[in-house]
Amino acid sequence: MKLEDKLTEVFRILPAQASALKKLGIISIKDLLYHFPTRYGDSAQVTSINNLHKGDTSVIFGRISGLKMSKAFHKKIPMAEGVIEDDTGKIKIVWFHQAYLAKMITEDSNVRVEGKVSERNNRLYLSNPKIEKAPDLFTQTNTHSLYPIYPETRGLTSNWIYHKIQNIFMSRGTLDTLIDPIPENILKTYNLPNLRTSLIYIHTPQKEIHAKAARKRFAFEEIFFIQLERQKSRHEFKEQNAFVIEKNMNDMEKLIKHFPFKATNAQNRSIQHILDDFHRGHPMSRLLEGDVGSGKTAVAAAAVYAIATSKPFDFAQGRLQTFGSLQTAYMAPTEILAQQHFESFIKYFSHLPINIALITGSGCRKFPSKINPDGWTNISRAQLLKWVASGEIAVLIGTHALIEKGVKFKHLALAIVDEQHRFGTAQRQKLVNKHEITPHLLSMTATPIPRTLALTLYGDLDLSLLDEMPIGRKKIMTEIITPEKRGEAYEKIREELKAGRQLYVICPRIDEPDPTKELAVLTKSVKEEARRLKKEIFPEYEIEILHSKMRPAEKEKIMLDFSAKGGSASGGKNKIDILVATSVVEVGVNVENASLIVIEGAERFGLAQLHQLRGRVLRGTHQSYCFIFADTRSPKTIERLEALKTAKNGFELAEFDLAQRGAGELRGIKQWGISDLGMEAIKNIKMVEAARIEATKLIKADPTLSKFPLLKERLNSSASTKIHFE
Ligand code: ADP
Ligand code: MG
Repeated sequence: MKLEDKLTEVFRILPAQASALKKLGIISIKDLLYHFPTRYGDSAQVTSINNLHKGDTSVIFGRISGLKMSKAFHKKIPMAEGVIEDDTGKIKIVWFHQAYLAKMITEDSNVRVEGKVSERNNRLYLSNPKIEKAPDLFTQTNTHSLYPIYPETRGLTSNWIYHKIQNIFMSRGTLDTLIDPIPENILKTYNLPNLRTSLIYIHTPQKEIHAKAARKRFAFEEIFFIQLERQKSRHEFKEQNAFVIEKNMNDMEKLIKHFPFKATNAQNRSIQHILDDFHRGHPMSRLLEGDVGSGKTAVAAAAVYAIATSKPFDFAQGRLQTFGSLQTAYMAPTEILAQQHFESFIKYFSHLPINIALITGSGCRKFPSKINPDGWTNISRAQLLKWVASGEIAVLIGTHALIEKGVKFKHLALAIVDEQHRFGTAQRQKLVNKHEITPHLLSMTATPIPRTLALTLYGDLDLSLLDEMPIGRKKIMTEIITPEKRGEAYEKIREELKAGRQLYVICPRIDEPDPTKELAVLTKSVKEEARRLKKEIFPEYEIEILHSKMRPAEKEKIMLDFSAKGGSASGGKNKIDILVATSVVEVGVNVENASLIVIEGAERFGLAQLHQLRGRVLRGTHQSYCFIFADTRSPKTIERLEALKTAKNGFELAEFDLAQRGAGELRGIKQWGISDLGMEAIKNIKMVEAARIEATKLIKADPTLSKFPLLKERLNSSASTKIHFE
């Protein structure tokens, strides 16, 4: 057996198993070895059924049968029952309120049951015990006290995986061909077990600490490779030449003084970071991270100003050119955003001789207009491209139309990407890469993530945080609503609706729940909730829905209707008063009049995500309200949600999420290309820093990794480290 061997060549594999493996991307022996258990069951302290005593909390292993669902207590309460049997006897199990359990467990399968032993009519039974599937080999005579439980996958049992991995371990020499890609000195420094030991530990730990050590090693490995890849591309980027921009804070005064507000300390600090980067002669690669409304555009404007007031170097004359200026490309994800930036920049730069242009799919504009120096004018694409190529346009703002063929700059010195997570790596690189002199890069994002995650995902970028909101900003009034307060909250909302305001209602699901799945009944769906609101709560208002399964044209129409101002023709009424939507729908337009948001099933969301959803009602001139509807009265959940009222910003909430609920609860970890195990490392700032330090050292000493062929190969082959932060 060799590591590269296909599983199908080595083992007999059933069609169902084959398709499960394929789905998991497991092809070779090595892939299977890298398929880790999510947790471990403990088969120690098992009680045999003939040894159970009333009142004890016990663990039993056995075969389950006689599963059925029914109703108890005058048919009011759903219940399920079954019988578990081991070598020594049988005992009945009942579950009240959790009848769905009977459906999740297969008749005659092996299970582990843990719960309190009760007695009724002189007979022992277990009521509402925890139940989980267990591998056969642990039912009775086992030696291991810990057994691996692999991620639940249809067609593939933990038992099967366990046995196959045992076969691999026992096949002679297979593990000997493993070479650890992590340099030995690094393993030593951080006290991590080597690859071979770690594989054995992670699949068949004898003790808890073995499993822990192995998990730590693989978590480190994953983060280390991401860091290595990021540091490598950072190194390559930083090697390039960039325009030297000799500006300091004093030079910025002319712009900053003209802002219609006083810049926050965080804004000033970020501007200073950028100016420092501009001095170096190598390209900046900086990420500006700040909540919605923290004022990223103004920081971007300062960077643009520094560029637009700098002259290009004239190589023929050996001095700075006396005409023209360096240029900026500013890319935004939607047309509406690009237009908004264009308008903001006109305001920021109206007193300065700086030409600004806009390019989108639906046309081009230029400021100032020749006829009206205070306004913009429509121009043809051909004309615009000419002026961009000649260097006459200092700032070109646009959508991805900016990176289409034909857009050529004379002296592109700065590329800005707004809402950078909305663009693919390729698109961002296109903006930066096609020039002789590499432009400085400023990325911006409002996605709040914990510091450790940012250090990892954005390892190739320097970070500036806008962790402070402009003063005087109205706070969103946030209230956590438990079920009994629902009615009160609706009355408050009704008052605001009467005053002409509009409301978002966010639900966790699109469709009506399947009535056979009892758990799902609890979570609201967009469609059902819209019907209910219209029928029972707000019949006098116009209600529409919006979700990701609608066609783009439908979505756009709904959004336009929702943002339409109630004119006199409509009697001052809104076209849509209430928009019921899922959380994934990016609203994209700022609807100033929408000052209310209700979030249903709030316990299902992370705090950082709730914070972002709430951000939708931030921009208006009216006092905004956010009602967080929780389906539970659990004090712990309510306390967690209360953090939304006290936390200063999204980062704080993201840290909270990580600390309280664990990495698995962070939104969209899959989209970041980090495994659940890797996310364990994200909880550990020391580990993330260690991985970063070691990766940086390695790349500094050997930028092409010529002395580390294994690392190089792994970087080139590993898909996970190539996924950028999309
Ligand atoms: P975002 O970080 O979400 O991109 P914007 O740059 O759009 O935020 O700024 C949001 C609003 O805040 C804009 O209307 C802007 O003019 C205003 N603003 C920015 N900085 C400040 C400040 N320091 N003081 C007051 N208002 C500010
Ligand atoms: Mg913005």
